[in-house]
Amino acid sequence: MQIIRDIAMLHRAVTALKQGGRSVALVPTMGALHDGHLSLVRMARRVADHVVVSIFVNPTQFGPNEDFAAYPRDEARDAALLVEEGVALLWAPDVAVMYPGGHRTHIEVAELGADYCGAARPGHFDGVATVVAKLFNQVRPDVAIFGEKDWQQLAIIRRMTRDLDFALDIFGAPIARDDDGLALSSRNAYLSKDQRAAAAAFPKTLQAAAKAIAGGADVAETLAKAEAAIVKGGFDSVDYVALADAESLERLTEFRKPARLLAAARIGKTRLIDNWPVG
Ligand code: AMP
Repeated sequence: MQIIRDIAMLHRAVTALKQGGRSVALVPTMGALHDGHLSLVRMARRVADHVVVSIFVNPTQFGPNEDFAAYPRDEARDAALLVEEGVALLWAPDVAVMYPGGHRTHIEVAELGADYCGAARPGHFDGVATVVAKLFNQVRPDVAIFGEKDWQQLAIIRRMTRDLDFALDIFGAPIARDDDGLALSSRNAYLSKDQRAAAAAFPKTLQAAAKAIAGGADVAETLAKAEAAIVKGGFDSVDYVALADAESLERLTEFRKPARLLAAARIGKTRLIDNWPVG
């Protein structure tokens, strides 16, 4: 596996990978890799000839009081995992390579980025959309894979790709979960043993609420009950539990397909997100 940190070298390496009409899939990550990321890499291997993984902890998608400095980083461990998965190229630019001289241009995917995590994290999705657009232009992949774990992010990237005519296909990969149902996340590493045990109530509550709504239960009542159950389960606060149109992300007060239950909650200093299909 080549590890590349320079844009000119990246272009040469990707051109070589694409020789003979071979396809390239990109899996963008922030590192601290777990089985969720590796499931994206495996999907990438199935749909393309070569896999490029990027590791970049993107400062512009973190708020001033968020965990940018503390975000877990272990490139040597990540690289070893990617070698085992048959990844051709690891694109690991420094902040100075990604944003030489700062940056003045950003992409805002209007409306889709405003609610849910966008409301709790102002500017977050502009940072995500902008860096993903840069990654698309840098790597020029045929396919890019994103996890359904970050449902709002996936919807935003799909929309941006369509709106800006990026010539690639976006694939969503199913959420990888631990045995007790908690979605795998690099941020799970922040949880104490007790918090980790309590966190398993989060997906279970969403699953039950999704089932109730699909079965005809009142939406507002079910969402309020789910919020209360999450707090009762040991979380300190709930950012949102919402029923959304799965594509436009519009809030739904009544169930119609395609719908997705989206949620974010805080346990201690850790903010966890999850989502569940409805119906
Ligand atoms: P991150 O490193 O957290 O930015 O995530 C990189 C990619 O991995 C994103 O597309 C995430 O949606 C995806 N991802 C993270 N955790 C999971 C998971 N548990 N299941 C599926 N995809 C995931």
